[in-house]
Amino acid sequence: MVNSSFAAAPNSILNAMSVDVEDYFQVSAFDDVVDRRDWEKLPSRVVQNTSRLLDLFDEFGVRATFFVLGWVADRFPELVKRISLAGHELASHGYHHRLVYTQTPDEFREDVRRSKRLIEDLSGQAVRGYRAPSYSITRESLWALDVLIEEGYAYDASIFPIRHDRYGIPDAPRHPHQRSSASGQLTEAPPSTVRMGATNFPIAGGGYFRILPYWWTRWGISRLNHRERQPAIFYLHPWEVDPEQPRLPASRLSRFRHYRNLDKTEPRLRALLSEFRFDSVAEAIKC
Ligand SMILES: [Zn+2]
Repeated sequence: MVNSSFAAAPNSILNAMSVDVEDYFQVSAFDDVVDRRDWEKLPSRVVQNTSRLLDLFDEFGVRATFFVLGWVADRFPELVKRISLAGHELASHGYHHRLVYTQTPDEFREDVRRSKRLIEDLSGQAVRGYRAPSYSITRESLWALDVLIEEGYAYDASIFPIRHDRYGIPDAPRHPHQRSSASGQLTEAPPSTVRMGATNFPIAGGGYFRILPYWWTRWGISRLNHRERQPAIFYLHPWEVDPEQPRLPASRLSRFRHYRNLDKTEPRLRALLSEFRFDSVAEAIKC
């Protein structure tokens, strides 16, 4: 069941800035070219890249939400502590970065329980939010929301209301909203879109921010804030500010999506941070 959306006052809209903390070789698009057993052996760049984002947020006085992969938290506990000490919100990106719709409910429960406990133990912060690897809560895996509620999560940020080859529920609500079930309720914070005609177009960050021209994101967030009076939910990955990362032999499409305009992310992010107000996801959706 879907309830009302969250309206905000004109000109004072706080958008949500978020980072999915994972390494360049852990993205779902590379699942078929990188064996998980090799994760340990590949040169990690997640600490240095996350540090760049932390420095940038510090420079602009912006608080963000870091959805940390449990696997990364286990290997780099100091990074989790540093994010927390800098005043940011910590949330979970699961433990193993497995697509939700490829897991059983029991496997998913174990994954989100383990990552939540780990990040809470390291940071001393309660973890309230979850974002699925590659937005993989789809129509086939909506059961995951019940598991999240049962495991003590207050919000989810995984349902992308667009059509895409790997994720999305094209007719899902576009703005933050409450979802109720027999297990309880949680707030859903969908990555941002603009609606034109009968179609939702992504303006939420990641590849859409890098590959499309900057004016697209700028126009989209302005339209959301001013016309719809809604916060944008924006996301990035640490590897997106790292043009020097090692290249992996993935498909042509995956290489395009992953490597295109890596050198443009940081200057664009600077522009975005100076043009709009941002805070953590929990703050922006008042959850
Ligand atoms: Zn991810």
